[in-house]
Amino acid sequence: MFLRIIAMKNITVLGSTGSIGTQTLQVARAYPEEIKITALAAGRNITLLERQIREFHPAYAVVWDEADAAALRERTGDLKVEILAGMEGLIAVSTLNEIHTVVTAIVGMIGIRPTLAAIRAHKDIALANKETLVCAGHIIMPLAEEMGVRILPVDSEHSAIFQCLQGQNRKEVHKLLLTASGGPFRGRKKEELKNIQAKDALKHPNWAMGAKITIDSSTMVNKGLEVMEAKWLFGVDYDDIQVVIQPQSIIHSMVEFRDGAVLAQLGTPDMKLPIQYALLYPHRRPVDGSRRLDFGSLTKITFETPDMDTFTGLKLAYAAGRAGGNLPTAFNAANEKAVAAFLSGQISFLEITEWIERACEKIPFVDHPDVNQILDTQRRVNELLKTGGKQFE
Ligand code: NDP
Repeated sequence: MFLRIIAMKNITVLGSTGSIGTQTLQVARAYPEEIKITALAAGRNITLLERQIREFHPAYAVVWDEADAAALRERTGDLKVEILAGMEGLIAVSTLNEIHTVVTAIVGMIGIRPTLAAIRAHKDIALANKETLVCAGHIIMPLAEEMGVRILPVDSEHSAIFQCLQGQNRKEVHKLLLTASGGPFRGRKKEELKNIQAKDALKHPNWAMGAKITIDSSTMVNKGLEVMEAKWLFGVDYDDIQVVIQPQSIIHSMVEFRDGAVLAQLGTPDMKLPIQYALLYPHRRPVDGSRRLDFGSLTKITFETPDMDTFTGLKLAYAAGRAGGNLPTAFNAANEKAVAAFLSGQISFLEITEWIERACEKIPFVDHPDVNQILDTQRRVNELLKTGGKQFE
């Protein structure tokens, strides 16, 4: 008789109420014998968090505000769950003795500290929060190696590359081919992007994602962040990462080897696959409710070169990444601020990348920034953008 040995994995999900977080819970729901939810963390959506607590029975839950934590404590008074708050809470649930893996599905630079704390506590990381590696890749990757921790990519492109690299000699990689859909405005020129509204930018042609990353996809800043993320995850030079537009989002990324062979990972656009691969790695299991690629009805897979003169976010990302130091942080912090301003109608679509450019030009350069200097750069960029860049002139 075939006996299947199942190892239960205890996980913490940071950002459980978001797009990646809820899909992580879908994976956990499908594999209850392999994944146990030990802790959940969210920002403000305590209604959904309460529902998640009632379904998954975590031992801990975290919300950002103490007032929300108090309200949630009252609502879950009939359950055995400890409710924590703020950065302290995020760090506490990322370092619990009983957990094996932390899913970092929180949005923004707020993910840096809990991720570092989790690595120091020897937890594997299922990494969705790309801002962490963009800003602190030079700290995270050596620390993960020192602690013997695995950083398992959740981002579909990086998961694709990770999958293509299984069983391969990394020294034989020639370059990484990072695919991009091109977003909703692919093919348009700058002039045609002037009057773009948030509602237009929030319509991604292929993927359903959180608001911030959807805007980042429309500006191609997301691809720029992914280029920086790939540099750290796979230890390659910027010259060896090429962005290729693949509008149907069927090829999730590719690796070209020394001998010219190119391996690609294909699939329908569904984040549950990379999430599940990161959580059950190295095993593959059916993905609940996911469509499979049908080569009978698939009519075409096409490629284009990115238009970096229109979508300057990608060009600026390569420049910030190559410059290194705190410039990737300036790039990312300015983008976070600009996307929030765009979503609330304060600035225009094209101003998003103008803000990034201004921040990267004006911020004083810091080489090898530590975490405090990274957070200080974020603070200074926020100040700079508040005053239109005047205090650095
Ligand atoms: P969402 O906006 O959908 O979700 C963000 C999550 O972070 C929510 O659970 C939110 O909680 C939580 N959060 C925000 N601020 C705080 C805080 N201060 N404390 C605790 N939790 C907080 O984002 P996505 O799921 O789309 O993206 C998450 C990350 O994954 C991003 O870094 C993104 O770039 C990356 N990613 C996303 C992909 C996708 O398909 N969505 C693909 C690849 C990467 P609440 O809503 O309760 O306030």
